[in-house]
Amino acid sequence: MAAAKKTPTSKKKPPRATVRTYRHGLGDCHLVTLYGARKARFQIMIDCGVILGTPDAGAVMTEVMDDILAATGGSIDLLVATHEHWDHVSGFAQAAESFAKLKVGAVWMGWTEDPKDADAIKLRRERDSALALLQAAAARMQVDGGGEPGLLSSVLDFFGAAARITTASALELVRAKVARPRYCDPKDAPVALADFRARIYTLGPPRDIRMLKKTLPSASAPETYGMALAAAERSVGQALSDPEQQPFSNSVRIPNRVAQSTPFFQQRYWNDDDWRRIDVAWMDDASELALALDSMTNNTSLVLAIDLADAGVLLFAADAQVGNWLSWDDCKWRVNGKQVTGPDLLARTVYYKVGHHGSHNATLRAEGLERMKALDVAVIPVDHAMALKKKWGDIPLDTLVTALDRATTQRGYVLRTDQEPSATATRRGARSTRLHVEVDI
Ligand SMILES: [Zn+2]
Repeated sequence: MAAAKKTPTSKKKPPRATVRTYRHGLGDCHLVTLYGARKARFQIMIDCGVILGTPDAGAVMTEVMDDILAATGGSIDLLVATHEHWDHVSGFAQAAESFAKLKVGAVWMGWTEDPKDADAIKLRRERDSALALLQAAAARMQVDGGGEPGLLSSVLDFFGAAARITTASALELVRAKVARPRYCDPKDAPVALADFRARIYTLGPPRDIRMLKKTLPSASAPETYGMALAAAERSVGQALSDPEQQPFSNSVRIPNRVAQSTPFFQQRYWNDDDWRRIDVAWMDDASELALALDSMTNNTSLVLAIDLADAGVLLFAADAQVGNWLSWDDCKWRVNGKQVTGPDLLARTVYYKVGHHGSHNATLRAEGLERMKALDVAVIPVDHAMALKKKWGDIPLDTLVTALDRATTQRGYVLRTDQEPSATATRRGARSTRLHVEVDI
């Protein structure tokens, strides 16, 4: 009998890891499985959240959490919460009942979440006072109880600030899973998982506060992808000037000319107390403050590089902004007598979880993607339709998607969670269901 002809798949080495990314909406939730000898598995869950305003969010996130329970047998080795934003942590609270059933070996967060770290305490204080300012400003809009009851919350929704109390409580649920969470610092030695021939490095958040506060590309030499800043400015500008894009629905908005002829507003606004008026200038300042607050929180993202040695590096960039990326240049560790640097890890990156849903200021060009010479797969957790609804029409940024396509075209592919995998991606091994996409490394 002739020897059976070898199929191409029989030549393939078994995968070292599988990354499952959920397609539940605009937000992040990943399940990484590392494979060891004798069917050993090390399972890492990274984030679990969906953007505020997602319909039926509780049911959506419960389905995701239940799928994690089913895929892991109800127990994971490591849970990572990258940063305190609703679209990364909401599920821990929204699917609390299912999350309570999940056994967790270890919890990792960025050093910025460490309740005992002096720099982290200072940063939180700054953030809280900025938030208090926004809340006070929003409260002023309620005009001494004369406004609609929903007004305050709609303003804070727009600012992404209303959920802060709940993002904090969602993080508490994560923290409570273990006696001592680890607060990761780029200075920490990488964590070796010998049985899985893996090492996990912390790239960010940066310890350098200047880098932590650098969220935007430099104006003179932008580090990110084409027309980025102009696009961002345009969308913010539109949101402020276009009456259709105001934070309040028409039902709660009172046009100036109507207010001027209403005794209630006449008494309170167009008089000696004129300073209390809240006008477009106030909107500008508050929006700017809110955006800065949001970008700063994104920049506290815990960025992990999972080094699978000869199989390459999996890079989970969370929502890291410009300064977080730039700081990786200075990361270095001593491993087995050899130096490993941030740029080394980028050069060996084969899988990239695209930063901040493919936004304009979260994937660097020269210091980022162009260094990923070995890149095979890029996964963008995004929901463009929801982004449009949120007036974030620029995610994912076209020029970035084009650059990712180009970088992966030889052997790999780009996956967007809001689209079915392309024929090429499917041929090259991408899998998808209604609930998730999956990639073997
Ligand atoms: Zn996000």
